[in-house]
Amino acid sequence: MTEHAVVIVGGGSTGLMLAGELALAGVDAAVVERRASQHLPGSRAGGLHARTIEVLDQRGIADRFLAEGQVAQVAGFAGVSFDISDFPTRHPYGLGLWQNHIERILAGWVEELAVPFYRQRAVTGFVQDDTGVDVELSDGESLRAEYLIGCDGGRSLVRKEAGIEFPGWDPTTSALIAEVEMAEEPELGVRPDARGVHGLGRVEYEIRDGEIVYADHGPVRVMVTDEHVSTSEPTLRDLSEAVTSVYGTDYGMHSPIWISRFTDMTRQAAAYRERRVLLAGDAAHVHSPVGGQGLNTGVQDAVNLGWKLAQVVKGASPESLLDTYHDERHPVGARVLRNTMAQVALIRPGDARLDALRETVADLLSIDEPRKRYAAMMSGLDIHYDLGEGHPMLGRRMPDLDLVTSDGPRRVFALLHEAKPVLLNLGHPGGLDITPWTDRVPLVDADFGGTWELPALGEVPAPAAVLVRPDGYVAWVSDGTGAGLEDALTRWFGQGNRDTPS
Ligand SMILES: Cc1cc2nc3c(=O)[nH]c(=O)nc-3n(C[C@H](O)[C@H](O)[C@H](O)COP(=O)(O)OP(=O)(O)OC[C@H]3O[C@@H](n4cnc5c(N)ncnc54)[C@H](O)[C@@H]3O)c2cc1C
Repeated sequence: MTEHAVVIVGGGSTGLMLAGELALAGVDAAVVERRASQHLPGSRAGGLHARTIEVLDQRGIADRFLAEGQVAQVAGFAGVSFDISDFPTRHPYGLGLWQNHIERILAGWVEELAVPFYRQRAVTGFVQDDTGVDVELSDGESLRAEYLIGCDGGRSLVRKEAGIEFPGWDPTTSALIAEVEMAEEPELGVRPDARGVHGLGRVEYEIRDGEIVYADHGPVRVMVTDEHVSTSEPTLRDLSEAVTSVYGTDYGMHSPIWISRFTDMTRQAAAYRERRVLLAGDAAHVHSPVGGQGLNTGVQDAVNLGWKLAQVVKGASPESLLDTYHDERHPVGARVLRNTMAQVALIRPGDARLDALRETVADLLSIDEPRKRYAAMMSGLDIHYDLGEGHPMLGRRMPDLDLVTSDGPRRVFALLHEAKPVLLNLGHPGGLDITPWTDRVPLVDADFGGTWELPALGEVPAPAAVLVRPDGYVAWVSDGTGAGLEDALTRWFGQGNRDTPS
């Protein structure tokens, strides 16, 4: 039986990100993926939000995505678009880039990190005991892992086999989504009507001056809201009938590349961990695609989990560190569920009172303070893990400050490229001593003369030192002294090595 420290089930965007994080941390992780290659028959998710771009920047790979996508203002709420160009981030925008390209680029990175893949095989079951998990594959082979991570999508076998409840709400609306060729020139753009929102657009497009400019030929991406909620697998005929019922013609559609259906089913795993089994991405949460948050949330789940799992596998931290994954990410997922449900309700057509409510919400969101709050939420830039009382930076994302160090100018995010934590001492050089942790936590003395500003919160007092976790969230803020630093180092990075010579 082949052994790995971690087996990841599913090599979609979540599984790939987790595989990369574990490989960077030097953990033997393998991915089991049913698909023969990374090829996705359809385009699926439409892009990345600002915080996901930052997270990729923290690993030095954001440029790969930016080079292929279309930078645009993509954050919005219930039809209200937000311009976040005034937000204090190096990436005050989103990125239009189809999921098939996002996965291809992520897979290229993971391949460079030499992560082993078991392709064209599905996990069919597993049994966990006190020291590990036996994992059965569809080809009859078995793997043994210390931890098994279900990144296997909304219908997750891992979640079901682990007996984790998936409470939530059944769908109230559904839509057909497809990519097809059309013999005639279709009416491109969004078309709302009494049934719901529909849209036709070419898969290939550019954003010029904030406007989508579609290619003049190539496959068309179709979205048609169903008249009645459905969850069945659609055919070309279903699609043709649905398009005809809205547009009066199917524009001579043929040669479908991909036909699917999505709903607003809203569910979340009751627990993200069941002993040695953990869930991330769609396996842990499903919801309407409104607001484009699913892939982004999954990638950020992976970045929260990766370094914690690495520390536990390496024996540096106790297993209880893994519970902070649920404690931190479950509320983030729950908030995404809540905001998608609110948006689905607000954009439901055909009721004058709802129209009035939507206009009222739009009106409120045109005021600067609510706009900033909601834009920070939809772009993921406001995520705040509850790490206790203290400085406003505690539990929030570390900004990508331009520092001056003894090695020259450095961006904070560049210090995170290897997925290690960093203790930034911005006060008196040499003022902090963390000798027992130097094997795990680099200490960088740096100067920063600018202001500390957070999206939506605004300016915060400049800390004298911060401990930044590998996922880019601040775990400790100095009050001008080293008080609490040892506790924070122990809590997040395990007991210090008291044998280390000082
Ligand atoms: C129409 C639509 C539009 C969307 N738009 C956006 C958007 O704009 N922005 C956004 O952030 N999100 C969007 N989403 C959501 C996004 O597509 C998902 O959230 C994302 O794909 C989740 O990634 P994942 O890796 O968690 O799961 P998946 O992408 O479902 O990947 C799971 C992987 O596991 C594999 N697998 C499953 N079971 C097994 C098994 N037993 N053994 C081995 N392998 C297995 C599958 O083959 C698959 O590769 C959209 C979704 C839809 C449907």
